Amino acid sequence: MSAPDLVVVGAGVMGAWTSFWARRAGLSTILVDAWGPGNPRATSADDTRIIRSSHGSDGFYPGWSRRALAHWRRFGDEWGEQLFVETGVLWFAHHEDGFETASIDTLTGLGIPIERLSLDEIGSRWPQVRTDDLAFAAFEPEAGGLLARRGVVGVTRAFEREGGQLRIAAVRPGRLHGSRLIDVVGADGARIAAERFVFAAGPWLPVLFPTLLGGLVSVTRQDVLYFGPAPGDERFDHAHLPTWVDYDGAWFGVPAVDGRAPKLGSDDYGPPFDPTTGERLIDPDSVDAARAFLRRRLPALADGPVVETRVCQYETTPDTNFIIDRHPELDNVWIVGGGSGHGFKHGPRIGEYVVERLLGAAAGPGEERFSLTIPRGAPAGLRSGSSR
Ligand SMILES: Cc1cc2nc3c(=O)[nH]c(=O)nc-3n(C[C@H](O)[C@H](O)[C@H](O)COP(=O)(O)OP(=O)(O)OC[C@H]3O[C@@H](n4cnc5c(N)ncnc54)[C@H](O)[C@@H]3O)c2cc1C
Repeated sequence: MSAPDLVVVGAGVMGAWTSFWARRAGLSTILVDAWGPGNPRATSADDTRIIRSSHGSDGFYPGWSRRALAHWRRFGDEWGEQLFVETGVLWFAHHEDGFETASIDTLTGLGIPIERLSLDEIGSRWPQVRTDDLAFAAFEPEAGGLLARRGVVGVTRAFEREGGQLRIAAVRPGRLHGSRLIDVVGADGARIAAERFVFAAGPWLPVLFPTLLGGLVSVTRQDVLYFGPAPGDERFDHAHLPTWVDYDGAWFGVPAVDGRAPKLGSDDYGPPFDPTTGERLIDPDSVDAARAFLRRRLPALADGPVVETRVCQYETTPDTNFIIDRHPELDNVWIVGGGSGHGFKHGPRIGEYVVERLLGAAAGPGEERFSLTIPRGAPAGLRSGSSR
């Protein structure tokens, strides 16, 4: 049997969508994952992820986010799966000249819906939100929550229905021939050869390419908490509360969707974390910090019990831009990752872009930010907490 056109290593949101688009482009493709799509160690595996267009003054990511949203909507409909919940995203602004004002200016210029809301308007629409330390809010009505694990499993199933192969194996780069990789190899010595390879292994990328990526991708532990409202209290359900981000406070939250409780997480970086061996038990200090924040913002939830928790990880580049580039020494190898705490939403666009590049497209304007070799500066402020 001849080698397939493409092997993709990693069935998180980036690898799964890359495999899907590769099949659509007619490439014979094998997707390999150590534990399978949506496995609990993967960064893409929480129940929900936020999709928003606001990126402060950055005008590049809003276009990617809108295109990705169109794909999430379209393919969710096609596959009969709800992958997106249009809750809107509410940005709590602590002062006039910050991320939120820059986002309003940028999105308005791009024709993407965003509203400025006064404290009175927030109070009348969502009286459960405490606003006395805020200046105003920005509201993106067409943004919301993605059903993350369900989305990754859904796109992998679609890939298989269209003739792609999924294999469960932990692999690493195998034999070389000059500047080409010939195969990947599993712990048992089994090899999978291909014409081209995409490594989309999220927080495991520095393990697979320690010399190239060890200094470029930092992996930190991030605690996520789900708080239980009082019996019969629907104020934290997505019908009554939007998804929200407190950019300057470095907190984010998703209302109750899909039978889960309302969720929140701190966007400050946690300690270094090993995604394979790390125990997924949250730090008790995270509970105290979350309650203190809820008292300031959603006080009726602050005394509710923690009903679920997750430990996830960020795989962050120095400037928080993603990595999507050819390996500098291996002509047929691409590295895709560095989600930096904001990569999930872009999954469909990232996969589409990777396949365009694999098939010969050059990087377009603004896309040099994904390069493995350009010097990366300070955090670009694309995510709350990323500059602290
Ligand atoms: C708490 C938290 C909140 C976040 N919130 C948001 C948000 O609201 N919006 C947003 O857009 N993004 C958000 N993100 C970021 C987003 O989740 C990530 O950018 C994205 O999920 C990364 O996907 P990935 O495909 O690169 O990696 P992963 O999802 O980690 O996928 C990598 C896959 O590779 C596999 N693998 C690893 N090693 C091997 C190997 N040797 N062989 C085979 N397979 C292997 C793993 O099993 C895994 O399935 C958040 C992240 C966290 C942690």
